Amino acid sequence: MSVMGFLDEHAARACIHCGLCLGSCPTYRETGDENESPRGRIWLMRQLAAGRLSLTAGVVGPLDRCLGCRACEVACPSGVAYGALLEQTRAYVERGYRRRGWQWWLRRVLIDEVLPYPQRLRVALWPVGLARWWGRRGGLPAWLREPMELLPERWDDAPLPAESPACGPRRGRVGLLTGCVMSVLFRGTHRATMRLLNWAGYDVVVPEGQVCCGALHAHNGNLVQARHLARRNVAVFVQSGVDWVVVNAAGCGAMMKEYGHLLGDEEAMRVAGRVRDLVELLATREFPQQGTKRVTYHEACHLSHAQRIRQQPRELLRAVAGRQFVELPESDTCCGSAGSYNLTEPDMARRLQQRKVENILRSGACVVVTTNPGCQMQIEAGLRRAGARHVRVQHLADYLVERLRLR
Ligand code: SF4
Ligand code: SF4
Repeated sequence: MSVMGFLDEHAARACIHCGLCLGSCPTYRETGDENESPRGRIWLMRQLAAGRLSLTAGVVGPLDRCLGCRACEVACPSGVAYGALLEQTRAYVERGYRRRGWQWWLRRVLIDEVLPYPQRLRVALWPVGLARWWGRRGGLPAWLREPMELLPERWDDAPLPAESPACGPRRGRVGLLTGCVMSVLFRGTHRATMRLLNWAGYDVVVPEGQVCCGALHAHNGNLVQARHLARRNVAVFVQSGVDWVVVNAAGCGAMMKEYGHLLGDEEAMRVAGRVRDLVELLATREFPQQGTKRVTYHEACHLSHAQRIRQQPRELLRAVAGRQFVELPESDTCCGSAGSYNLTEPDMARRLQQRKVENILRSGACVVVTTNPGCQMQIEAGLRRAGARHVRVQHLADYLVERLRLR
């Protein structure tokens, strides 16, 4: 560990400054600024850790603008664990850097205290319909109106069954992580996930007492609360006795797969080893081809870069859509959602959103499939803004259930 004790200096030193990661970094590609690149950010982290730089706006800004997308990790020949370095640095920044006004409120209130807790989120959503209506008539400033435009137009908040049995030959029993934002805004996707898993031969249970996976806190520099939530989930899923913990949000799956590293105990490692993204369980089942409109696939960073799952979703889509599946240019480039990034860094998030929308329109697809609700909301908002209402964005589970007529 370094002088300041927050950074794993050995891991940071693995960076040999070769620059091979630069082309894969969305913020570097947008700005051409070394400080906005993985190499530049690692240098800033090391200077902070050594006490040669202090927490000023000029240093914290490029670190805040990192998406945490981990595209650089995939490109790095030296195996730099960038995600872990960023997590350590963010925790250090949030302990020592004084944020003010809107940024303080977003990070310390909305992201730390509201979004990860479904009951609080439900209450916070009550006035949104009216506020959005008011905002669209010019009654609210852009900084207040735009975050609300990210929300889906409507959502299904009906309760989920506690259990749902397999159809046909039984392959195992899985526990579904319902998460925080997803358990309020995307219950329909959870229902679709349960139907698909039942169809694929799994009994599904929704264990009581589970909480947010902790990713929102971890990415916001609040590792204490992230660990607290992770411990709760480890206890709940151990007690449930399931064969697999299934996750249908790429960011939550990546977080849970790292519980062993986050908590450093054997039970957490065992639970982390049983976590599977939905596509990993579905990939073992044959899918019949169904007629469909032209469909493309946007890769969620935390599925493709953090979990390194790239081919299975494409194989599922090819099986169902056949020749109507088309590749999306820059499919693995972040859409700007990146957890809560589109709230805290709206300018860069908007640039990346626009780039994603242009690529989607270039692909000619009528449906964009993804595996993360954050990406879904970000892309939907971008398409609405571009006036491209003919293009639908669907979670993979919703798309498959609809094509297989399992509803
Ligand atoms: S590719 Fe890896 S080693 Fe090279 S500059 Fe980027 S982070 Fe450093
Ligand atoms: S995590 Fe993403 S945005 Fe951050 S430095 Fe790496 S590639 Fe760039």
